[in-house]
Amino acid sequence: MFASVLISYEVKSLDKTFTYKIPSNLSIKIGMKVKVPFGNKLINGFVIDIVNSYDGNYEIKAIKEVVNEGFYLNKELLELGEYIKSKTLCSLMTAYETMLPKGLKTKSIKSDYSTYDKYLVLNKEDNILKEYISNNQRYLNQVILLTDLLNNKKVLKNKYHISSINTLLKKELIKEVLEQKYRINKEAKELCMMKMTEEQAMVFDRVNEDLNKSGTFLLYGITGSGKTLVYINLIKEVIKNNKRAIMLVPEISLTAQTSQIFYDYFGNDVAVFHSGLSAGEKYDEYTKILRDEIKVVIGTRSAIFTPLKDLGIIIIDEEHSDTYKQDNNPRYHARDMALWRSKYHNCPLVLGSATPSLESMARGIKGNYCLLKMTKRVGIATYPEVMIVDMAPELKKGNSIFSELLLKKIEEKLDKKEQIILLLNRRGYSTFVTCQNCGYTYKCPHCEISLTYHKSSNSLRCHYCGFTVLKDDKCPSCKEDALNYLGLGTEKLELELKSRFKTARIVRMDADTTSNKGSHEKIINDFKFLDYDILLGTQMISKGLDFPNVSLVGVINADTTLNIPDYKSNENTFSLLNQVSGRAGRSNIKGEVILQTFNPDNFTLECVKENDYLKYFNYEMNIRKELKYPPYVYLAGIKIVSKDYDMASKEASKVANYLRSNLKNNEIVLGPTTATMFKNGDNYRFQITIKYKEEDKLLEVLRSLEELYLVNKKVYLEIDLNPGRI
Ligand code: ADP
Ligand code: ZN
Repeated sequence: MFASVLISYEVKSLDKTFTYKIPSNLSIKIGMKVKVPFGNKLINGFVIDIVNSYDGNYEIKAIKEVVNEGFYLNKELLELGEYIKSKTLCSLMTAYETMLPKGLKTKSIKSDYSTYDKYLVLNKEDNILKEYISNNQRYLNQVILLTDLLNNKKVLKNKYHISSINTLLKKELIKEVLEQKYRINKEAKELCMMKMTEEQAMVFDRVNEDLNKSGTFLLYGITGSGKTLVYINLIKEVIKNNKRAIMLVPEISLTAQTSQIFYDYFGNDVAVFHSGLSAGEKYDEYTKILRDEIKVVIGTRSAIFTPLKDLGIIIIDEEHSDTYKQDNNPRYHARDMALWRSKYHNCPLVLGSATPSLESMARGIKGNYCLLKMTKRVGIATYPEVMIVDMAPELKKGNSIFSELLLKKIEEKLDKKEQIILLLNRRGYSTFVTCQNCGYTYKCPHCEISLTYHKSSNSLRCHYCGFTVLKDDKCPSCKEDALNYLGLGTEKLELELKSRFKTARIVRMDADTTSNKGSHEKIINDFKFLDYDILLGTQMISKGLDFPNVSLVGVINADTTLNIPDYKSNENTFSLLNQVSGRAGRSNIKGEVILQTFNPDNFTLECVKENDYLKYFNYEMNIRKELKYPPYVYLAGIKIVSKDYDMASKEASKVANYLRSNLKNNEIVLGPTTATMFKNGDNYRFQITIKYKEEDKLLEVLRSLEELYLVNKKVYLEIDLNPGRI
């Protein structure tokens, strides 16, 4: 027997298919990932066909081994791969690699579902540790751990570098303690038993009517209108019909809360997929799916590729979220994948959001999607009162972080034992460090953007490429003691809060405090069970989370997203602020929201204040129409990337000329300009944007353009159709 094996040819990943012998000791299936000899190397490939004979006249080699034994792409996913290729212009090989989860270990490692968390605490007096730190500055990971411990007394073990932990344990400077992880969430069980409100029942009935057809529903339901219960009831129905369901959520932090509710109700029928799983957990979940033991998959973007058979529904919660678009190759959107699969399985796709993306809402209004609305909060909960605070006069009074109103409200809520959420969409301590004497600014040598200072580790980090340096005591350029910390980040906000509200229990959630497994769940769970009074964090805290005891939401700087130079910045601002406002007042306590801004008359903020999505939608649609932006046109972004500045610049002009002379269907070609991240990891990047209406013609031209660059090893193109941002 012989196998046709798809491989990726050379660096430019051109698809090629070659025939290989199937050795008798291997059992090979179509869709398996294999290792095959190619030239004098072993490379990965996918088996796309098995045949009895072969008629080539070259010497035939044999498949060497199977990668991830037992796992393979089924017929549906092999077809979906072709679709990804056509939709994103990636190679078929890249599409297949993306759909089969990486890092599967062939041996199952015991899943870490234990009910205890491991913590580290100090085992010596503070001054001994301080001395150790100053003598061991070169061991950055140990320094980070010890400084965190000195500040917090107790830290989650899995957040830190294991070899540093072991060194410090051996030296008896720290020790390990166990603490119970989860408390039982009664509310989840209760929710599943609740009777639906009239609005919920209407939405449920409408989708249920079409449960055996493909079709897309857009559920526009304000925050707190009870979308989760509708999802649960639809999934129950699907399971009753002996079919399966996929539900996507935008972030890991939401899988925790959602999956807990689903575990409680559906028990072992649920599998959870997100990037935070260990290889062992992924393996276990995937095996269960292949054994057909799973009825519901919950997960982030890539969970859309889980090979569930007989799908009965696909749900995408918070459908507007930009995390559904992958921003590296293949640049697919989970919504497109879901649409394709819902057609394949003849089942509905439900897109849910309080702030639908403009394109989805436009389709809903046009009737391409069936638009369903939930306009009321469940029970007696009402939408919170939103107050806009002009920060210009506050700044004159010396209040750069907190307005008087916000301080007063925080105190008030702390007194009443109600909870507070504060949003600041920038992590780190300060977003740049400059010298007051000579003007020197710490910048990333690879990306040329300012480095963010992280106080806990006394280091400066690039938030794009991860480059890290220890901060100097004096200016590295003029050697004066004049370093100045500018631009507020969450880490500094936390310290400010702690010094102002000494007895308040404060927890921070951002990419730095949640980089390890289980840390999201832990923070959310602890806050929900009232272990903390204030939760502060980046946009991570804005979505979907349901905390009944929160009565105040403060947005420290509502302008951060408004000022991003992107056509979507209003849309992103509206959804972020409306979503975060929606975290307040979700039960019988009244909610209040304070938006601090230097643009108090901004129309988008006004719409947030009035909780009026449709007013915002109409306003923004007019702008988009006027300026020719989506959803009135489609966009394609092309980046021309090279380590050589002149080369990148010259080729960018060539590409633009090529496009202008080959596109003949009223497309608009803009640029080249320098890309937003002009220098990224030593690469220079230029950008061309195309506005277009017909996809087929454009794809044809882009494919031929790409081929021109396949042979060029010094310049490469990144083509992004419908980019998340430009
Ligand atoms: P959304 O996702 O639409 O913002 P949720 O699904 O989180 O809203 O629901 C908001 C709150 O209302 C939750 O605390 C939930 O337990 C409660 N809830 C939802 N549906 C009902 C119902 N039919 N009866 C009583 N409470 C409900
Ligand atoms: Zn960098």
